[in-house]
Amino acid sequence: MFVDSHCHLDRLDPSTHNGDLAATLEAARARGVKQFLAIGVTLDDVPGVAAIAREHADVVISAGVHPLHRVAEEPTLEAIKETADRYGAVAIGECGLDYHYLEKAPDQVPSREVQRERFRRQLIAASELELPVIIHTREARDETLALIREHTDPAVGGVLHCFTEDLEMAREAVRHGFYISLSGIVTFHSAKALREVARQVPLDRLLIETDSPYLAPVPHRGNPNEPAWVVEVAECIAAERGISVDEVAMQTTANFYRLFRAAAPEASEEMRGILQGAGLVK
Ligand SMILES: [Zn+2]
Ligand SMILES: [Zn+2]
Repeated sequence: MFVDSHCHLDRLDPSTHNGDLAATLEAARARGVKQFLAIGVTLDDVPGVAAIAREHADVVISAGVHPLHRVAEEPTLEAIKETADRYGAVAIGECGLDYHYLEKAPDQVPSREVQRERFRRQLIAASELELPVIIHTREARDETLALIREHTDPAVGGVLHCFTEDLEMAREAVRHGFYISLSGIVTFHSAKALREVARQVPLDRLLIETDSPYLAPVPHRGNPNEPAWVVEVAECIAAERGISVDEVAMQTTANFYRLFRAAAPEASEEMRGILQGAGLVK
């Protein structure tokens, strides 16, 4: 049984199952994907994402503001906490630092200062609500780690989502109570260094995700991504580690509920059976 730990269900491509979200989720369930974490990219998007979760019992949500998103007004600490609370978010995010576009298109993305303060406020919100954080980090390694160390209780932790950094950063984050989530990028021919991460990160610290509709895995590259294809991510990790896909599925599912504790009571009967077996819920 698989979990897609990071998907943008409110942004799926209109060509995916003819724009039918229910059919898209059904296609994923048919491959064994039985839990979805739908990500809020801005606070304004959260009500829409929450509406999807109300309609589908196997969807839970997060609330946050993406580092690259341009907003008219920066959300306050209170607004972040209030939104997460009101809509039953199981995590804060995605939030973080993304300096990749700063040089190429400095007018198009929030500045370092804006990103840093926005990230800090979300880390504080997560810490006050005792919710895990979903972190998007790109070319901002030292600052990301420094802010995590400053604000995140390792007992609550979080995840570095769609991880593309090196093994050293993964290890440092794991030391601080974080999980590493791999997306379809791990299947890309060019992603040798990331497959090394897939082999080396402790199995009890790995999550899998699609980041749909972005980053479709091999052999679907070039198409808009969808949650069903998280299976290809699991297959790639299993091949790299020389273990079965079942073991990757079981372990990453258990990891998901260990990190996103608020999602466990919402899990389906079928899923709860597995979690009980793993000693994760009573
Ligand atoms: Zn992201
Ligand atoms: Zn995302």
